[in-house]
Amino acid sequence: HAGKVVVVGGGFGGATAAKYLKRANPAIEVVLVEPAETFYTCPFSNLHLGGLRSMDSIAHGYDELQDRYGVRVIHATAEDIDAAAHTVKLSTGSELEYDRLVLSPGIDIRWNVLEGYDEDAAEKAPHAWKAGSQTEKLRAQLEAMEDGGTFVMVAPDNPFRCPPGPYERASLVANYLAQYKPKSKVLILDAKDNFSKQGLFMEGWERLYGDRIEWVGLSDDGRVTRVDADRLEVETEFGTVHQADVLNVIPPQKAGWIAERAGVTDDSGWVPVKPETFESQQAEDIYVIGDATVAAPMPKSGFCANAQAKVVAVAIAASLESRPAPAAHWTNTCYSLVGPEYGISVAGVYRVKDGVIAEVEGSGGVSPMDAPDTTRALEAEYAVGWYNAICQDTWG
Ligand code: FAD
Repeated sequence: HAGKVVVVGGGFGGATAAKYLKRANPAIEVVLVEPAETFYTCPFSNLHLGGLRSMDSIAHGYDELQDRYGVRVIHATAEDIDAAAHTVKLSTGSELEYDRLVLSPGIDIRWNVLEGYDEDAAEKAPHAWKAGSQTEKLRAQLEAMEDGGTFVMVAPDNPFRCPPGPYERASLVANYLAQYKPKSKVLILDAKDNFSKQGLFMEGWERLYGDRIEWVGLSDDGRVTRVDADRLEVETEFGTVHQADVLNVIPPQKAGWIAERAGVTDDSGWVPVKPETFESQQAEDIYVIGDATVAAPMPKSGFCANAQAKVVAVAIAASLESRPAPAAHWTNTCYSLVGPEYGISVAGVYRVKDGVIAEVEGSGGVSPMDAPDTTRALEAEYAVGWYNAICQDTWG
């Protein structure tokens, strides 16, 4: 008996962990629990929004994990976890036992923390921060918008899923508007004063879109405190009301709710983990990866979820044989498309130093400012290469 591992969540973290557990030791029994039969990636969903990609092109299934790697895939929701008994209760009514559990449930929305933004409001003012029907809804609204309309985006404070994501989205919406609705604009109302790759984004916006994108930061009264989804209106901290034609609210977030059921979240709503192995600090034999964790300075990215999953797979395989886990290293690169042929990126390398996750000194960085168009075009190509490679690595 080499051990049984249950993995909850078949996104970037969970699917990778399941596959790499089998690769680390094929004798380990690996069960992946994921409700969806088709997973739509958030990465490149902004391209769908901008009319540059089909939903099909960002859809991934679980056949390969099952048929090629020997992962047992169960399409169900994990409804409860008993950490002491080492069991997972499924929506199908059955119960799974585990020796080790991996949770990669991604994010959930903190409903009503932003006044007026609840599940009903999300139907009218989509967040599209989980890809799928929300993405399609926002795309349909954008397509139906009259020329001359304003796409208003509400951007959250840190920490949240995909730090550069809102700004890539604003870029690709502006790209669509420039072509099809030239009198329209994008207004970003932001709860913070700085954002990821800000200088590079702003340089690109000026270069490609002139004044089509307006960004209002916290200090300029950018923080939205109330949403009226019926009227497509938002109100800021100091009482300014902005009227939208399409309203995209990216609300505050927390770890996927099953993490709370497992008892591994803290007051922040996220999951603290042991840096070397990503085992929960609060429950033995439960490993948590991806967006649900507190892993700063690593960002909440698909790239990091995938990297953390591999470290966890090796750590679990070692622990099942009572061997120590090897030293962990992680990397991250987040590409963003400012335009279809204009890519920028940020990269980082991380390891554990003095008991915490730290960026390796002298590593990483962002794309150069004032780079020639050929550099931006190359990075846009790298972004597509990255997307194909990571999806292959995760589900293929
Ligand atoms: P997910 O990939 O969301 O997977 C979670 C899975 O868990 C889901 O399939 C869900 O159905 C399942 N689940 C949840 N609860 C349960 C339960 N109780 N039982 C069973 N299953 C459950 N990252 C990048 O690296 N590069 C990018 O270019 C990039 N672009 C992005 C653009 C946008 C617009 C957004 C929103 C995000 C982007 N990201 C990007 C971030 C990336 O999507 C996330 O960091 C990544 O998905 C995190 O992986 P995860 O495994 O933690 O969660």
